[in-house]
Amino acid sequence: MQGITILGATGSIGASTLDVVARHPDRYRVHALSAHSRVEELAAACRQFRPQRAVVGSAEAAAQLAALIADLPTGVEYGEAALCDIASSADTDIVMAAIVGAAGLAPTLAAARAGKKILLANKEALVMSGQLFMDAVREHKATLLPVDSEHNAIFQALPASYARVPGACGVAKILLTASGGPFLNRAVDSLGSVTPDEACKHPNWVMGRKISVDSATMMNKGLEVIEAHWLFGAPADQIEVVIHPQSVIHSMVSYVDGSVLAQLGNPDMRTPIANALAYPERIDSGVAQLDLTQMAGLQFFAPDFERFPCLALAFDALRAGGTAPALLNAANEVAVQAFLERRIGFRDIDRVIRHALDVVPHGPAPSIEAVLAQDARARAAADDAVSTIASGLQR
Ligand code: NAD
Ligand code: MG
Repeated sequence: MQGITILGATGSIGASTLDVVARHPDRYRVHALSAHSRVEELAAACRQFRPQRAVVGSAEAAAQLAALIADLPTGVEYGEAALCDIASSADTDIVMAAIVGAAGLAPTLAAARAGKKILLANKEALVMSGQLFMDAVREHKATLLPVDSEHNAIFQALPASYARVPGACGVAKILLTASGGPFLNRAVDSLGSVTPDEACKHPNWVMGRKISVDSATMMNKGLEVIEAHWLFGAPADQIEVVIHPQSVIHSMVSYVDGSVLAQLGNPDMRTPIANALAYPERIDSGVAQLDLTQMAGLQFFAPDFERFPCLALAFDALRAGGTAPALLNAANEVAVQAFLERRIGFRDIDRVIRHALDVVPHGPAPSIEAVLAQDARARAAADDAVSTIASGLQR
């Protein structure tokens, strides 16, 4: 019986994780659940899974939750220190890192430093502080298993002995597939007027709003390129993005002998979640078996960097190294939030990020403090750009 902490239990990944966990009450016991503000949903999950601890974002949310589950033995806490504590507690073996954005960094790092088995959905943490995070995983003998569907696919297509050196086992390229999102075929000159709801209508996946906008700009793929770099030790030139609108192949590894290994499946995050949860075993995830005879055809294209400038910005940030990916990530979070609040347009997202990258110099990333300081500077610069654009739009 393994204890699990789910950081971000009320999100899309959190809900899919609970769905898989509920299928295997003999294997997993829920130690702790966290949510930011969706108290009623967290209360319902506490009622079903009876965790020892539940953590929310504020004192008010904690008081609301405590009132809703007063009859349960679950202890209610709030704040970042409590998140780090449930991620590193001796009572948990597995930590699902499914908080969205930079807010997930501290607890995910705490799990690494406590040597936990980490199921990593929160790609932003790795993008911000890849070297420091991977060092902590190695130093504290944590186990890092990718949940992002592409990285989980690559993980499955690599040999079990893979030790982050592509050349050592004949890996030529990592082929990261991308659906292209909702705007793959929309006229480029009409993208300025798309709404947040249109951007969040992903053709194949149901996800949280931030990652949905990231998929529409393809910044999600850009962040995933950086994520793949850290997880698999591949330089930017060995990572290739391939547009595959059907999202049936979740990514591939190309080997020097000409072989290409792919992982296929229905687009449902319960598959990579179950794979990471039970690794190296296999468990039922609730996902239907793939019916290949029902596939109309699988297509593959090269990405258009002019349609998707965010993808190019991410490759540039990876090549620049140091704090550049943290700057990119922070500015993107600000820009996406501003777009979701309708303060800027869709095409302004890459403008805001470019502005932040232009005005905040990047440098080495020797410590988490240095990364967080650059994150704060990038947010301030992005906020300025958003204000300028928003006041121009109002006029
Ligand atoms: P979501 O918006 O549905 O859920 C986010 C979760 O994080 C919620 O539980 C929320 O309460 C919590 N949260 C939000 N802000 C917080 C804060 N400031 N402090 C603490 N908790 C906070 O997002 P999601 O789609 O489930 O994505 C979660 C993560 O997984 C993201 O990093 C995303 O990139 C990654 N991911 C998601 C998918 C997917 O299919 N949804 C696929 C691959 C990777
Ligand atoms: Mg993904």
